[in-house]
Amino acid sequence: MAGAVTRRRLGKTGLELPIIGFGASPLGGVYQEPLDEEEAIKAVHEAFKSGMNYFDTSPYYGNLRSERVLGRALKDLPREQIIVATKVGRYGTDTFDFSAERVTKSVHESLERLQVSYLDLIQTHDIEFGDLDQVVKETLPALQKLKQAGVVRHIGITGLPLKIFPAVLDRVEPGTVDAVLSYCHYSLNDSSLETLIPYLKSKGVGIINASLLSMGLLTEQGPPEWHPAPEEVKAACKQAAEYAKAHGSNISKLAIKWALQQDSIASHLIGFTKPQQVYMNVETAQSPLTAEEKGILAEVQKILAPVHNVTWPSGRPEN
Ligand code: NAD
Repeated sequence: MAGAVTRRRLGKTGLELPIIGFGASPLGGVYQEPLDEEEAIKAVHEAFKSGMNYFDTSPYYGNLRSERVLGRALKDLPREQIIVATKVGRYGTDTFDFSAERVTKSVHESLERLQVSYLDLIQTHDIEFGDLDQVVKETLPALQKLKQAGVVRHIGITGLPLKIFPAVLDRVEPGTVDAVLSYCHYSLNDSSLETLIPYLKSKGVGIINASLLSMGLLTEQGPPEWHPAPEEVKAACKQAAEYAKAHGSNISKLAIKWALQQDSIASHLIGFTKPQQVYMNVETAQSPLTAEEKGILAEVQKILAPVHNVTWPSGRPEN
């Protein structure tokens, strides 16, 4: 492992994550079909070589496919030099089961698909779709047992609405949850996670920001069909991407460089399918904003201002 990518500590876990992590949901074919699996496996290996050795997946992504493809790639890498994170509770085409029995079984199934004997991080996936009482009283204690048995090293929770994080963290003993994964709330068009950072730090949990490119909104090719953002957000992001391109820049590069300035976030997950994206994003992550880019970024932020922090509903109404 070349170790080029800067690293930051994840809360109190002792894990040192690369500032950009490999988001493996696209390995489930959710952004691009047909997915070239051999190319995706090469992307995983190239990421590792560049020091981006943190891989995040879920049984939900592509209905088990992401874990299977990632497992085929990980089996060729030295286990002690990679950080493997997956999730429990969300499956198939939007089925949720946060019961102790299901999540315990799920962890063992993920180990097989990922071809590893332990997980560095297991996360309860999109808890806003569950009963938070069950998450606190049943799911997290079941994961705690797996932690005590050495099957998982650290425990996290994930989801979209920011209020779910204090709703759980305020009800559990310190050390029960090691990390939170928030998505689509720390990027150029939505930075609302910022307001929660002091609270999360006070709770001693590590912070992971996923979907740094807002699930494709902040790319030149634009978001996939299923993207849940309101039309005005999609239109503003498209306009911003066009502005950046017309001025010799790239919206994805600006988004990455902007986000990496926030050092309270241990790692930002970006979805990859191609080695080329790995090379490009690693290079971007290693070079700060130039004076010229700062000027373009200021204009891009003006374009995005009318939709800043505009999000979409997710989960049960009571959460
Ligand atoms: P993303 O914002 O990273 O966007 C992914 C898209 O951007 C893909 O189409 C990818 O091919 C493309 N892309 C990557 N680099 C690019 C570049 N330089 N230029 C142009 N396009 C580029 O969205 P994501 O993949 O959904 O999020 C990243 C990861 O975070 C996921 O793979 C997943 O591991 C994690 N995540 C977790 C949750 C959760 O737990 N609830 C939710 C969302 C994301």
